[in-house]
Amino acid sequence: LLEVSNLSASFGGTQVLRSISFNMRSGESVALVGESGSGKSTLLKTIAGLAPKALRVDAGGIRYAGQDVLGLRGKTLRAYRCEGAKYVFQNGQESFDPLFSVGRQFDESLRAHGMRADAGTKLELLERMGVTDGERVLSSLPSELSGGLCQRVALAIALAGAPQLLLADEPTSALDSDNRKKVANLLRKVNEVDGVALLLVTHDIELAAELAPRIMVMHDGEIVESGSREEVLERPRDPYTRTLVDSVP
Ligand code: ATP
Ligand code: MG
Repeated sequence: LLEVSNLSASFGGTQVLRSISFNMRSGESVALVGESGSGKSTLLKTIAGLAPKALRVDAGGIRYAGQDVLGLRGKTLRAYRCEGAKYVFQNGQESFDPLFSVGRQFDESLRAHGMRADAGTKLELLERMGVTDGERVLSSLPSELSGGLCQRVALAIALAGAPQLLLADEPTSALDSDNRKKVANLLRKVNEVDGVALLLVTHDIELAAELAPRIMVMHDGEIVESGSREEVLERPRDPYTRTLVDSVP
């Protein structure tokens, strides 16, 4: 489904991605862990066709469902952002424009998929993400909702067009333990029941182990370790991974 090969990219003169290579099969769940600033969000956004303008890809490629993602421009890029791999922001609120109601932004996204933006569709999509007071949520501004609720609404919107790959960027880092559990369970359901492939970025190695049979570790723009969760957690080879694993209580 996804093939990232020798991807290198930089902001100005600073290299942030260093020859990244990995593949994902349909329905697979993979976790990407690594410390702050290691390039995780940049990698995910680049895969989703949302790389900041300032990012320059120096080498390598990304193929998603047979498409050359880095070669997309204009209309085809917009179509890919809508129908390709879906990125969910680190912080629930960040997914939304603060000025418009959540419902209005949900409508726009449904229309972009050629779907009917009726209340029934929206409420059903929200309910699947465990949001039961959908009407209130839809009429609210993003700032009126808690981070956990925003995160679940953002997931509902991202999943509306039934994408094959969800790129979840630290989906639980801003949440309390109750919401963290809810979102973790939702992601598990989306992957295991709905069969959506999941690339989960987190610096919570316990969450990684919970949701993904395969773990990749990123350090300073490079994937320094990659393997099954057992290999990585029980026999880490890279010194950085060892520190990370040892820090778990
Ligand atoms: P975190 O865990 O804090 O979210 P991250 O692993 O997601 O970190 P990135 O956000 O991908 O890291 O950032 C990687 C590097 O790129 C950092 O050094 C960051 O300062 C830099 N960077 C990110 N976005 C931009 C940008 N728009 N312009 C210039 N530099 C950027
Ligand atoms: Mg990040």
